[in-house]
Amino acid sequence: MNSTEELNAAAEAIATTEELALACHVGPDGDALGSMLGLGIAARNAGKRVTASFGSPFVMPPNLAFLPSGLLVAPEDFPATPELMVVLDVGSAERLGELASNASKAASVIVLDHHVTNEGFGDISVVDPKAAATGELVFDLLGLLNWQITPDVANCLHTALVTDTGRFLYANTTPRTLEIAAVLVGAGAQPTEIGRHVYEESPFGYLKVAAVALGRAELDVDARFVSTIVTQADLTAAGIDWGDIDNLIDTLRLAEEADVATLVKVHKDGRVRVSMRSRGDTDVGSLAVAMGGGGHRLAAGFTTEADAEAVIRQVREAMEEYR
Ligand code: AMP
Ligand code: MN
Ligand code: MN
Repeated sequence: MNSTEELNAAAEAIATTEELALACHVGPDGDALGSMLGLGIAARNAGKRVTASFGSPFVMPPNLAFLPSGLLVAPEDFPATPELMVVLDVGSAERLGELASNASKAASVIVLDHHVTNEGFGDISVVDPKAAATGELVFDLLGLLNWQITPDVANCLHTALVTDTGRFLYANTTPRTLEIAAVLVGAGAQPTEIGRHVYEESPFGYLKVAAVALGRAELDVDARFVSTIVTQADLTAAGIDWGDIDNLIDTLRLAEEADVATLVKVHKDGRVRVSMRSRGDTDVGSLAVAMGGGGHRLAAGFTTEADAEAVIRQVREAMEEYR
């Protein structure tokens, strides 16, 4: 089936099921939460019973805490054997964290996603790498279902679009993205409010962590590679959490000498989460897949337990192959 047929099949399955269990990827971003909550609220308004969650750590990123999150339940309260589970913005079952086990026991799983690295899991798999955000697919799905876009739904979906397109500036932004955004704003989305929460507010401690992390950034001019490391100790010293530094990579990638920017986040459990961005000459999505992760051509990531300095060397060396 192509993605239009898959989307029709998804709409049919959702329309004929009373109870929906929705999940997005661990460490959710604006697209993961916005597309999930937008679909969830529209479904509840249409009379469905809905629960939504994401794998632990089950902490709402502070910059996205303004989203209407009444449907959210902790992962341990998520249906163990859902009749219909819809997973959003998730390229592989692994990215569901512990909810991967719920998905494996679900009677049916629908995947709504736009990652070029999507592994093609689920019973109905709607994967459109040309969609700028999973929120675009939810918008189309709501159209097929004839479900109303209330101001809350519009705000969720607009947040999905804004965040995955870097405020409609990244190369994934299409005329269709902007058309959808126009409809969402017409339906009551509040771009100024979204922008303020997502981009214009951080705790003071963020400035301290950014100063430390950017202060230790290194540029390899020949490799056109900029990188830095941020640790749990840096965050603790400044009294902030991982969810507060989601925008830090956007400052690191300003270095015009670099094609690839890499931010290495060393968590206290020894897990190392790596974020990569490319200006266009390097396919960091494929590089991330080689490292066991995923993403898009110009924005991708992976998780490892290797030493942070070693990870940076590995990425810099691997980069050559993906130009
Ligand atoms: P981030 O750097 O966390 O903003 O992520 C950039 C993109 O890479 C997003 O589309 C993520 O879904 C994807 N991504 C990040 N980390 C991973 C991972 N460990 N595995 C698969 N995809 C990832
Ligand atoms: Mn995402
Ligand atoms: Mn996305």
